[in-house]
Amino acid sequence: MIHSLARELRCIDCEAVHPLEYLLECRACGGLLEVRYDLAGLGRAERPRFTGHALWRYAPVLPIVDPAHRVTLGEGETPYLDCPRLARDLGVRGLAVKYDGANPTGSVKDRTSATAVSAARQFGFTAVSVVSTGNAGSSLASYAARAGLRAFIFAYARAAAPKLLHMAAAASDLILYTGVYDDLIGHWDRLVDDRLFFDAGASRNPYKHEGKKTLAYEIAEQSGWDVPDAVVAPLAVGETFIATTRGFREMREAGWLERVPLMVAAQATRANPVSHAHRTGAAIVPQTIGYTVAEGLGAGNPGRKGEWALRLLRESKGVAADAEDAEILDAQRRLARTEGIWAGPTGVAALAVLIKLLARKEIDPGLRFCVIVTETGLKTEAASPSRAARAFDYQSLKRLVEDRLAGL
Ligand SMILES: [Zn+2]
Repeated sequence: MIHSLARELRCIDCEAVHPLEYLLECRACGGLLEVRYDLAGLGRAERPRFTGHALWRYAPVLPIVDPAHRVTLGEGETPYLDCPRLARDLGVRGLAVKYDGANPTGSVKDRTSATAVSAARQFGFTAVSVVSTGNAGSSLASYAARAGLRAFIFAYARAAAPKLLHMAAAASDLILYTGVYDDLIGHWDRLVDDRLFFDAGASRNPYKHEGKKTLAYEIAEQSGWDVPDAVVAPLAVGETFIATTRGFREMREAGWLERVPLMVAAQATRANPVSHAHRTGAAIVPQTIGYTVAEGLGAGNPGRKGEWALRLLRESKGVAADAEDAEILDAQRRLARTEGIWAGPTGVAALAVLIKLLARKEIDPGLRFCVIVTETGLKTEAASPSRAARAFDYQSLKRLVEDRLAGL
């Protein structure tokens, strides 16, 4: 089964329906659009049997019509890791990590780069673009290179060196900027509206973000369709959270899931407009933010996507919370030490938020959790921990190891 069941675009505000064109906003009201599918084509009575590999295993529920337009670097099918030691440590009934750092460029962005670049081909574009702190830029540049398209990557000049190195290698056009992201993004949106390149940003394009919906499909399949009780997903502009929520809902609508997991949105405290709004019952107030170690979560103004995420949280009685930088770095070490998973700060923020919710008794430890960890730690730029070095001989080494084993 490889053909797409995508049928139309629907406005999330006024529900106006539009054909599957390159359209970023509702023609009637300017609202955001989502792709709708004819899921009956996969059979209502029984669960679908997806075939093939990588992201395109889920081609029926993705909006790329012609298989010739699909691009892949082998993204998706990332590990769903049961974490019994960490679960015991935290006192929860169950804990799994969906480890998206195992994607080809080391982050969840590969799921959306695959659908963005494929959609760019579908609509006849020869260039794609994104404004990025690192992961999105290196991912999109790699997928554009793979498809033979130009990639205009606008990257913050102070992005981490490993990410800049990667972007410089893969992007046809890397443009570094200084100054404020919010000022640049206004100009960039106008370049998109002038159709100089395909919009591979996170704020509007209904085709691009669809790739992350496969997170939900993989979690469903990898858990044997016995989905976890709660899924913790990071939230900056809202792409991963919204796409995952929609994926689970889609499967329930199709009759493949009896229930959807409780969705938990995780932000960094230094950029927490959605979490703050949800917890206080107020509207989203854009923030002027400073630096957070979770660089990919540094969105002070999540725009209409943020409003959408908040609406989903409220409709589903979801949970939202945020973690301080020190809590994120602590969770990073804890995950590496207890389960051997080395994730970057952006990637591990969701775990930090879960730990905090449990400590505050704001979530039931009797649930089985899945935490979406979105990036590898291998691209993180930080000073190495200092270590006192020693001269050695066999006897001193033997004594050292024996002492440590004895717990001295
Ligand atoms: Zn509308």
